[in-house]
Amino acid sequence: METCLFCEIAAGRIPSRQAFSDEAIVAFHDINPQAPTHLLLIPRHHVGSLADLTAADAGLLERLATTAARLARELGQETAGYRLVINCGEAAGQTVPHLHLHLLAGRRLGWPPG
Ligand code: 5GP
Ligand code: ZN
Repeated sequence: METCLFCEIAAGRIPSRQAFSDEAIVAFHDINPQAPTHLLLIPRHHVGSLADLTAADAGLLERLATTAARLARELGQETAGYRLVINCGEAAGQTVPHLHLHLLAGRRLGWPPG
């Protein structure tokens, strides 16, 4: 099986600037931030994309989202506002085939997104 970049980051074999980790998920700073705060939250186990979630992953998205909300609060971004994004598939801009939630904050974010 091909090596997965975010599996390697979750395992600590590729370094990242971590913001949080527990037994199920890891949050780390994006290498190419699109906002003053740009974190990625991933499951520790490999899930290719949102479309690959199965019944065995019940509760995982909630855990990712509530952790993102807590990190946003701890970073002082709750009042100003922030955005959570999941790109699913090539046309949506997914470039790393391991499910990840973007947490973007610290600037005004335009809508609709590009
Ligand atoms: P996507 O485009 O798949 O939704 O998001 C992938 C994200 O992963 C991009 O924002 C990209 O900057 C980030 N990324 C790609 N490679 C690395 C890496 O090696 N380390 C970190 N920290 N982020 C990465
Ligand atoms: Zn993976």
